[in-house]
Amino acid sequence: MRITSAKFIKSAVQLDDCPQGEFPEFAFIGRSNVGKSSLINLLTNKDGLARVSKTPGRTREINFFKINEAWSLVDLPGYGYAKVSKNLREQFNEFVSDYLVNRENLLGTFVLIDSRHTPQKIDLQFLQWLVEHNLPFALVFTKCDKTKAGALQKHIDLFKTAMKEWSDGDPIIFTSSAAKRLGYKEIKAFIEQAMEAS
Ligand code: GDP
Repeated sequence: MRITSAKFIKSAVQLDDCPQGEFPEFAFIGRSNVGKSSLINLLTNKDGLARVSKTPGRTREINFFKINEAWSLVDLPGYGYAKVSKNLREQFNEFVSDYLVNRENLLGTFVLIDSRHTPQKIDLQFLQWLVEHNLPFALVFTKCDKTKAGALQKHIDLFKTAMKEWSDGDPIIFTSSAAKRLGYKEIKAFIEQAMEAS
Protein backbone atom coordinates (compact mmCIF):
# COMPACT_ATOMS: atom_id res chain seq x y z
CA MET A 1 0.00 0.00 0.00
CA ARG A 2 1.33 3.40 -0.97
CA ILE A 3 0.12 6.13 1.34
CA THR A 4 -0.67 9.09 -0.85
CA SER A 5 -2.62 11.18 1.63
CA ALA A 6 -2.67 11.40 5.40
CA LYS A 7 -4.47 14.13 7.23
CA PHE A 8 -5.55 14.97 10.75
CA ILE A 9 -9.34 14.80 11.13
CA LYS A 10 -10.13 15.54 14.76
CA SER A 11 -9.48 14.87 18.42
CA ALA A 12 -12.05 13.29 20.69
CA VAL A 13 -12.33 13.04 24.45
CA GLN A 14 -15.39 10.82 24.54
CA LEU A 15 -16.95 8.21 22.30
CA ASP A 16 -19.68 10.59 21.15
CA ASP A 17 -17.04 12.98 19.77
CA CYS A 18 -15.48 10.35 17.52
CA PRO A 19 -15.99 10.89 13.79
CA GLN A 20 -18.59 8.74 12.10
CA GLY A 21 -17.09 5.29 11.76
CA GLU A 22 -17.53 4.87 8.04
CA PHE A 23 -13.99 3.71 7.28
CA PRO A 24 -12.00 0.72 8.51
CA GLU A 25 -9.93 1.84 11.46
CA PHE A 26 -6.62 0.83 13.06
CA ALA A 27 -5.48 2.13 16.43
CA PHE A 28 -2.01 2.61 17.92
CA ILE A 29 -1.34 2.56 21.63
CA GLY A 30 1.56 2.12 24.05
CA ARG A 31 3.32 3.57 27.05
CA SER A 32 4.22 7.21 26.72
CA ASN A 33 7.57 7.65 24.97
CA VAL A 34 7.39 4.22 23.33
CA GLY A 35 7.89 5.81 19.90
CA LYS A 36 4.24 5.93 18.81
CA SER A 37 4.36 9.34 17.11
CA SER A 38 7.58 8.41 15.33
CA LEU A 39 6.06 5.16 14.06
CA ILE A 40 2.88 6.90 12.86
CA ASN A 41 4.96 9.49 11.03
CA LEU A 42 7.09 6.74 9.50
CA LEU A 43 4.05 4.73 8.40
CA THR A 44 2.36 7.70 6.81
CA ASN A 45 5.63 9.13 5.54
CA LYS A 46 4.60 12.46 6.95
CA ASP A 47 6.86 14.08 9.50
CA GLY A 48 4.93 15.84 12.19
CA LEU A 49 1.56 14.22 11.45
CA ALA A 50 1.22 12.72 14.92
CA ARG A 51 2.57 15.81 16.62
CA VAL A 52 -0.96 16.87 17.55
CA SER A 53 -1.02 14.33 20.32
CA LYS A 54 2.07 15.87 21.88
CA THR A 55 0.53 19.22 22.69
CA PRO A 56 0.64 19.58 26.48
CA GLY A 57 -2.69 18.90 28.12
CA ARG A 58 -3.96 16.91 25.18
CA THR A 59 -2.64 13.59 26.32
CA ARG A 60 -6.11 12.22 27.00
CA GLU A 61 -7.39 12.77 23.50
CA ILE A 62 -7.90 10.21 20.80
CA ASN A 63 -6.65 11.59 17.49
CA PHE A 64 -8.12 10.51 14.17
CA PHE A 65 -6.29 10.63 10.85
CA LYS A 66 -7.68 9.80 7.44
CA ILE A 67 -5.37 7.81 5.21
CA ASN A 68 -5.75 7.64 1.42
CA GLU A 69 -9.40 8.62 1.90
CA ALA A 70 -9.86 4.90 2.59
CA TRP A 71 -9.09 4.11 6.22
CA SER A 72 -8.56 5.78 9.59
CA LEU A 73 -5.50 5.70 11.75
CA VAL A 74 -6.16 6.38 15.41
CA ASP A 75 -3.57 7.64 17.85
CA LEU A 76 -4.69 6.58 21.32
CA PRO A 77 -3.35 8.27 24.46
CA GLY A 78 -0.22 6.72 25.87
CA TYR A 79 -0.87 4.69 28.97
CA GLY A 80 1.22 4.44 32.07
CA TYR A 81 1.70 8.04 32.98
CA ALA A 82 3.22 7.76 36.42
CA LYS A 83 2.42 11.35 37.26
CA VAL A 84 -1.31 11.49 36.71
CA SER A 85 -3.57 10.92 39.66
CA LYS A 86 -5.27 7.56 39.93
CA ASN A 87 -8.58 9.22 39.25
CA LEU A 88 -7.39 10.84 36.04
CA ARG A 89 -5.80 7.60 34.92
CA GLU A 90 -9.07 5.78 35.48
CA GLN A 91 -10.95 8.42 33.52
CA PHE A 92 -8.68 8.20 30.56
CA ASN A 93 -8.57 4.44 30.65
CA GLU A 94 -12.34 4.52 30.67
CA PHE A 95 -12.49 6.50 27.45
CA VAL A 96 -9.87 4.31 25.77
CA SER A 97 -11.60 1.13 26.89
CA ASP A 98 -14.97 2.54 25.82
CA TYR A 99 -13.52 3.29 22.39
CA LEU A 100 -11.80 -0.08 22.02
CA VAL A 101 -14.83 -2.09 23.07
CA ASN A 102 -17.51 -0.10 21.24
CA ARG A 103 -15.93 1.24 18.06
CA GLU A 104 -17.56 -0.94 15.45
CA ASN A 105 -15.28 -0.09 12.53
CA LEU A 106 -12.10 -0.75 14.53
CA LEU A 107 -10.35 -3.65 12.78
CA GLY A 108 -7.30 -3.91 14.99
CA THR A 109 -5.00 -2.30 17.52
CA PHE A 110 -1.23 -2.10 17.34
CA VAL A 111 0.24 -2.30 20.82
CA LEU A 112 3.67 -0.71 20.84
CA ILE A 113 6.31 -2.15 23.12
CA ASP A 114 9.75 -0.66 23.73
CA SER A 115 12.07 -3.43 22.53
CA ARG A 116 14.78 -2.43 25.00
CA HIS A 117 12.92 -3.68 28.05
CA THR A 118 11.70 -6.93 29.50
CA PRO A 119 7.89 -7.15 29.75
CA GLN A 120 6.43 -4.38 31.90
CA LYS A 121 3.42 -5.09 34.06
CA ILE A 122 1.28 -2.35 32.53
CA ASP A 123 1.87 -3.68 28.99
CA LEU A 124 0.94 -7.21 30.05
CA GLN A 125 -2.13 -5.97 31.91
CA PHE A 126 -3.32 -4.09 28.86
CA LEU A 127 -2.69 -7.07 26.55
CA GLN A 128 -4.57 -9.36 28.91
CA TRP A 129 -7.46 -6.93 28.92
CA LEU A 130 -7.52 -6.97 25.07
CA VAL A 131 -7.51 -10.78 25.05
CA GLU A 132 -10.29 -10.95 27.65
CA HIS A 133 -12.39 -8.61 25.51
CA ASN A 134 -11.66 -10.59 22.35
CA LEU A 135 -10.17 -7.55 20.63
CA PRO A 136 -7.74 -8.22 17.77
CA PHE A 137 -4.26 -6.76 18.17
CA ALA A 138 -0.66 -7.04 17.03
CA LEU A 139 2.49 -6.19 18.96
CA VAL A 140 5.05 -3.79 17.53
CA PHE A 141 8.46 -3.83 19.19
CA THR A 142 9.83 -0.30 18.67
CA LYS A 143 13.31 1.24 18.72
CA CYS A 144 14.91 -1.98 17.48
CA ASP A 145 17.99 -0.03 16.41
CA LYS A 146 18.67 0.38 20.13
CA THR A 147 18.39 -3.31 20.94
CA LYS A 148 20.86 -6.06 20.07
CA ALA A 149 19.32 -8.95 18.14
CA GLY A 150 19.79 -11.37 21.05
CA ALA A 151 18.13 -9.08 23.56
CA LEU A 152 15.27 -8.36 21.16
CA GLN A 153 14.56 -12.06 20.71
CA LYS A 154 14.78 -12.60 24.46
CA HIS A 155 12.27 -9.82 25.15
CA ILE A 156 9.90 -11.14 22.48
CA ASP A 157 10.15 -14.65 23.95
CA LEU A 158 9.46 -13.31 27.45
CA PHE A 159 6.29 -11.64 26.18
CA LYS A 160 5.16 -14.81 24.46
CA THR A 161 5.77 -16.86 27.59
CA ALA A 162 3.98 -14.38 29.85
CA MET A 163 1.02 -14.16 27.48
CA LYS A 164 0.62 -17.95 27.30
CA GLU A 165 -0.84 -17.80 30.81
CA TRP A 166 -4.03 -16.20 29.49
CA SER A 167 -3.88 -16.42 25.71
CA ASP A 168 -3.94 -19.25 23.15
CA GLY A 169 -1.34 -19.22 20.39
CA ASP A 170 1.37 -16.68 19.74
CA PRO A 171 0.57 -13.01 19.15
CA ILE A 172 1.19 -11.32 15.80
CA ILE A 173 4.52 -9.52 16.14
CA PHE A 174 6.23 -6.75 14.21
CA THR A 175 9.57 -5.11 14.87
CA SER A 176 10.27 -1.52 13.92
CA SER A 177 12.77 1.28 14.02
CA ALA A 178 11.75 4.81 13.15
CA ALA A 179 15.40 5.82 13.32
CA LYS A 180 16.43 3.22 10.72
CA ARG A 181 13.07 3.33 8.89
CA LEU A 182 12.43 -0.38 9.39
CA GLY A 183 9.24 -2.38 9.87
CA TYR A 184 6.69 -0.02 8.37
CA LYS A 185 6.20 -1.92 5.09
CA GLU A 186 5.20 -5.06 6.97
CA ILE A 187 2.73 -3.14 9.12
CA LYS A 188 1.18 -1.47 6.07
CA ALA A 189 0.89 -4.84 4.30
CA PHE A 190 -0.86 -6.24 7.38
CA ILE A 191 -3.31 -3.33 7.41
CA GLU A 192 -4.02 -3.84 3.73
CA GLN A 193 -4.65 -7.56 4.25
CA ALA A 194 -6.92 -6.93 7.23
CA MET A 195 -8.99 -4.49 5.16
CA GLU A 196 -9.29 -6.95 2.29
CA ALA A 197 -10.38 -9.68 4.69
CA SER A 198 -12.99 -7.53 6.42
P1 GDP B 1 5.58 8.70 21.84
O1 GDP B 1 5.58 9.46 23.12
O2 GDP B 1 5.25 7.27 22.06
O3 GDP B 1 4.78 9.33 20.73
O4 GDP B 1 7.11 8.64 21.36
P2 GDP B 1 7.92 9.52 20.30
O5 GDP B 1 7.68 9.05 18.91
O6 GDP B 1 7.73 10.97 20.58
O7 GDP B 1 9.41 9.08 20.68
C1 GDP B 1 9.91 9.21 21.99
C2 GDP B 1 11.42 9.32 21.91
O8 GDP B 1 11.98 8.13 21.36
C3 GDP B 1 11.89 10.45 20.98
O9 GDP B 1 13.06 11.02 21.55
C4 GDP B 1 12.21 9.74 19.69
O10 GDP B 1 13.19 10.40 18.92
C5 GDP B 1 12.71 8.40 20.19
N1 GDP B 1 12.43 7.33 19.22
C6 GDP B 1 11.25 7.02 18.67
N2 GDP B 1 11.37 5.97 17.83
C7 GDP B 1 12.67 5.62 17.84
C8 GDP B 1 13.42 4.60 17.16
O11 GDP B 1 12.94 3.80 16.36
N3 GDP B 1 14.76 4.53 17.45
C9 GDP B 1 15.36 5.39 18.32
N4 GDP B 1 16.66 5.23 18.56
N5 GDP B 1 14.67 6.35 18.98
C10 GDP B 1 13.35 6.48 18.73
